[in-house]
Amino acid sequence: MPVFTVGRSGDQKFEIGQDRQFVHNEHVRITVDEHSDNWYLEDLKGGKGNGVYLRDSAGDFRLVVNCHIKPNDVLRLGPENAKSFTFMAHQLVAPNDYSYEFKYLRAMDKRFKKAEEEHAAVVKKHNLNMIIAPIICVSLVAIVRIFAPIDPMLMLALCGVATALPPGLLRLKYRSDSERLKRIKETRAKFLLCPKCWRVLSDYDVRNCKCSVCKAM
Ligand SMILES: [Zn+2]
Repeated sequence: MPVFTVGRSGDQKFEIGQDRQFVHNEHVRITVDEHSDNWYLEDLKGGKGNGVYLRDSAGDFRLVVNCHIKPNDVLRLGPENAKSFTFMAHQLVAPNDYSYEFKYLRAMDKRFKKAEEEHAAVVKKHNLNMIIAPIICVSLVAIVRIFAPIDPMLMLALCGVATALPPGLLRLKYRSDSERLKRIKETRAKFLLCPKCWRVLSDYDVRNCKCSVCKAM
């Protein structure tokens, strides 16, 4: 199995500039399994150097020392800074060719759009519930009025409560709707970055599998 020592003096086939001073000369060892997506990573400083950070499913970077990784995992050598270096592990087997990364980004973009659509459908259903709930409650009060005469003032008060209370309670129940949409959008923004220059990609860039700034493709 090919083993790569990645760093400023590493044997990886893509360049890590000497200006990336947070990257050690020999920073991380990655064992590539050509027959599976089960690769292995070891911080050559044993966690006592500038650190190896692995991007998690929420798009945040977590410090790791030894762990299994997949080709589409994104690694950062050193803390968040212009002097660190970020790359997708697949670069080790296809250096300076970003087609794999862009294909992955397109798939991720589809997944985020599907999540947003599903969320929009749930919000639509919740909004409908908030319209229907007071209508049902007022109808129930009217039906009760037919069988049990109620004082007109009490009837008015009951109708007021039936109109205001259900939407208020449902609004409380559905209060996480906007937070969830915010979370989807935030995670999307953490993923849809150019795999070379790490700037935010436009929808056009993702569709065309090319960064319009650094021309990576
Ligand atoms: Zn770019």
